[in-house]
Amino acid sequence: MRITFFGAARTVTGSQHLIEVNGHRILLDCGLYQGRRAEEYERNLNLPFDARSVSVMVLSHAHMDHSGNIPNLVRRGFRGDILCTYATRDLCASMLLDSGHIQERDVEYVNKKRRKKGQPPVQPIYTQQDAMDSLDYFTGQAYNRAREIAPGVLLTLLDAGHMLGSAIVVLDIEDREARRDVRLVFSGDLGRVGIPIIRDPQMVDSADFLIMESTYGSRLHPPYEDDEKRLKAIIQDTYRAGGMVIMPSFAVGRTQQLVYALHKLAVQGEIPKMPIFVDSPLAIDVTAVFRTHPECYDDDILEFLRTNGDHNDPFGFSDLTYTRTQAESMRLNDLNQPAIIISASGMAEHGRILHHLKNHIEDPRTTVLITGWQAPETLGRRLVEKEKIVRIFGEEYHNNARVEVLNGFSGHADRDELLDWVGAISRPPRRTFLVHGEPKSAFELAQGLKERFNLQVDVPDWKEWFEV
Ligand SMILES: [Zn+2]
Repeated sequence: MRITFFGAARTVTGSQHLIEVNGHRILLDCGLYQGRRAEEYERNLNLPFDARSVSVMVLSHAHMDHSGNIPNLVRRGFRGDILCTYATRDLCASMLLDSGHIQERDVEYVNKKRRKKGQPPVQPIYTQQDAMDSLDYFTGQAYNRAREIAPGVLLTLLDAGHMLGSAIVVLDIEDREARRDVRLVFSGDLGRVGIPIIRDPQMVDSADFLIMESTYGSRLHPPYEDDEKRLKAIIQDTYRAGGMVIMPSFAVGRTQQLVYALHKLAVQGEIPKMPIFVDSPLAIDVTAVFRTHPECYDDDILEFLRTNGDHNDPFGFSDLTYTRTQAESMRLNDLNQPAIIISASGMAEHGRILHHLKNHIEDPRTTVLITGWQAPETLGRRLVEKEKIVRIFGEEYHNNARVEVLNGFSGHADRDELLDWVGAISRPPRRTFLVHGEPKSAFELAQGLKERFNLQVDVPDWKEWFEV
């Protein structure tokens, strides 16, 4: 059996791992790689393997760095099933179409510049139509149900507790060449214990080979409850100052988490009555998917729904308005009272959040509230680093806002949670491969796993393969 790491190798993006066994090729995830523009384009456009040779694909969850290059995989000739949970399939329907639209728009912009320089146009990585076509290959599978996906290969999806529909991938393989039965576990992205809406990550009882994420392999998060309290205090302070709370937020997962947290605080009278806006069409579509998958909810949200008869929509309440059209979004520019605006993109790189930041960042009464990891070189990162002058739409603005960061809302397990999850595997893995982490996180987690459990751990490089 061979495992090749075609993405998320010593980085957090572009998750793609290929398993070759019994004459079949099984692809785990097909994510988009994020990096410098030219490199990103080349790497995403040209898949590092022949798409036609892949028999079947398993998708751990809907985030773009795991699912985002599926339309290109299908465009290049993949014709197998894409197995994932039902919620993941439904999220992908919205997210991949949105991504296709973004790919087309980005290329339009690039081609305008190329035309001026007399260069030939480039093609989009994929189009919205490609995204639509790829949806035909998705096949839903419930959690905890085993299914044969290739000769001698049984797939079970466990709840990864990372976002709605996220899964740990368990492959029970009858390795016919080596005449042995082995279990390969791919953690996908692992969530935190005690995060609302979704359940905690499921434990795995045994693994021979483990491919595991390491995003926060070297860091600890504050407890979720502490950051929920800080969220309340920040909103109260900003309200008293007469300012706005501006939250750049990923449309998928984080926005619903924030909406649910605000809903609870509003119902309990813990925050002042003030208008709250979710200004993101994708977030609206995705929230609809959240509403249709209660099978993924944890006890906390089910209890909330039981005890709040008048509030039986966790993602809707009287102070909350979703703004879909551009006209509605632009009306928010005239707001002149304390309010909360949640908008994408999560790293404040593009999208409607830029308009809100532009309008309010020079006002010292404003709070910018960051709840997700911010990549280097993004506006979000510059805000976290409290840079005094920031560029938005090419113009310079004084950053007079109060900037607060709440890492407790993270969808990723921290170092201790990752170690605990491995510790719960009663028959520990013979070999462990750490993916989906910057080198520092991955190597520090590798060290921790070796010291604590005496495991054999590798941190694969891009395109590195292992015969196991
Ligand atoms: Zn993820």
